[in-house]
Amino acid sequence: MLLIESRGNDGLRAKSVNFSEAILTPIASFGGIYCPAALPELGQEFLKNQLTESYQSLALALIELFDIDIEPGVLQQAVGLYDRFDDADNPVPLIKLRENLYVSELYHGPTRAFKDIALQPFGVILSSLAQQRNQQYLVLVATSGDTGPAALETFKNRDNIRVACLYPDGGTSDVQRLQMVTECAHNLKTIGIEGNFDDTQSALKSMLGSPSFKQQLKDAGVCLSAANSVNFGRLLFQIIYHVHAYLELVRQQAISLGDKVYLIVPSGNFGNALGAYYARKMGLPVERIVISSNANNVLTDLINTGRYDIAGKSLITTTSPAMDILKSSNVERLLFDLFGQQRTRDLMQQLDLHGGYQLEADEITRIQAIFAADYCLDDEGKNYIRQAFDDGYLMDPHTATCLKSWESLCSNSLATVVYSTAEWTKFSPVIDAAITGNVGSSDLQALESIARAANIDIPGVISALFDKPICHESVIDKSDIEKEVIRFVS
Ligand SMILES: *Cc1c(COP(=O)(O)O)cnc(C)c1O
Repeated sequence: MLLIESRGNDGLRAKSVNFSEAILTPIASFGGIYCPAALPELGQEFLKNQLTESYQSLALALIELFDIDIEPGVLQQAVGLYDRFDDADNPVPLIKLRENLYVSELYHGPTRAFKDIALQPFGVILSSLAQQRNQQYLVLVATSGDTGPAALETFKNRDNIRVACLYPDGGTSDVQRLQMVTECAHNLKTIGIEGNFDDTQSALKSMLGSPSFKQQLKDAGVCLSAANSVNFGRLLFQIIYHVHAYLELVRQQAISLGDKVYLIVPSGNFGNALGAYYARKMGLPVERIVISSNANNVLTDLINTGRYDIAGKSLITTTSPAMDILKSSNVERLLFDLFGQQRTRDLMQQLDLHGGYQLEADEITRIQAIFAADYCLDDEGKNYIRQAFDDGYLMDPHTATCLKSWESLCSNSLATVVYSTAEWTKFSPVIDAAITGNVGSSDLQALESIARAANIDIPGVISALFDKPICHESVIDKSDIEKEVIRFVS
């Protein structure tokens, strides 16, 4: 597989690159990102053959179709990490919620949110590439709470990789913070930043643009890479579970092979949704991919009106913080795939210069043939969490936004998969408020309250966090980040 640049080529870089190049150096000409030049076809035979295979076999077979420049042994080791999920035989369970409504639980990995699905194998691949090239890589992560723990966990003690993870102090849940500050290894550094997630992200961006920072890294013999969702290495692993969810529907006799389904994706940076788009384009029978948002509903507007508009908007803090995003980075790959390099470059330039763009009528028609969208406010989400609990199911606030979309957009005649992106343990105060009415509890109080109400145990990996020693104490002003990171790598 070759990858090409979303905004065209500047004549200085290669016009197309291999998979390994795209994941080591993810930024392309004109500030664009790498996208597959073409996608393989699945075909009915492929799906039929995979019906009797495991998740790991499906993953390897799908990746083989992409024909990437990673050794089979490395891929096997990468995919083998799904054995560490709760159930090695079924790392991504599909649970029936109601007639024609199923939940694909993407959170059974070590850090209890769906970032593990892609970052676990990605860690193996990036580290093995760095070793083969005999290079040292620094992976910089700015997190609002889920990517950080997953990145630290996957790169922990891996050779030739160091991770500096920046999080907004006070801007994450207790569980998320503890997952980061108790993750101790010689190659990991977690730093709290005084400010919110926007401050954290812009601090990281300005550091990436700083000539003195780059020079000091160079002097230390360290290359930079990224583990955020614009890295195509993560996206590859986000196609697999959509195919898997479809196969599970067939196995559970909810549908017959070839029947169309709805996929509902709680979306922020659009990586999960783009994985669904690629799977559909490869031939997975999907009627519509439904994009769910919270009050930060830029994606709802884009799909329903063709207008992407962040000019007058400021970020709203919601109870589904992983979706509190205005600049949804993977939308660019969709624009590229549908409208080509020149148009994508124009649109992204309008977004940068004017804070928005308007698609043409025919472009909107093409998007609406594939996608539908709705958004769900916090109070509505709370009701869905409450309803699900009354039906015997614990649901996190990101997943809950999908139930609104299901009611408003999905006819009951088609089987529907809702993607659940976090375990209840990661956002417990919101869930506690929804099901018991307690407000203002700490994470620990909320975990205990929910466990009592649902008559279950708090999972051991979560309760243990509250007793683990803290090894990353620093909380610093953003002007000191560069110094702190350089001290860590040299
Ligand atoms: C990252 C995340 C999302 C958003 O996924 P995208 O791929 O960025 O759209 C949704 N829910 C949770 C819990 C997440 O961690």
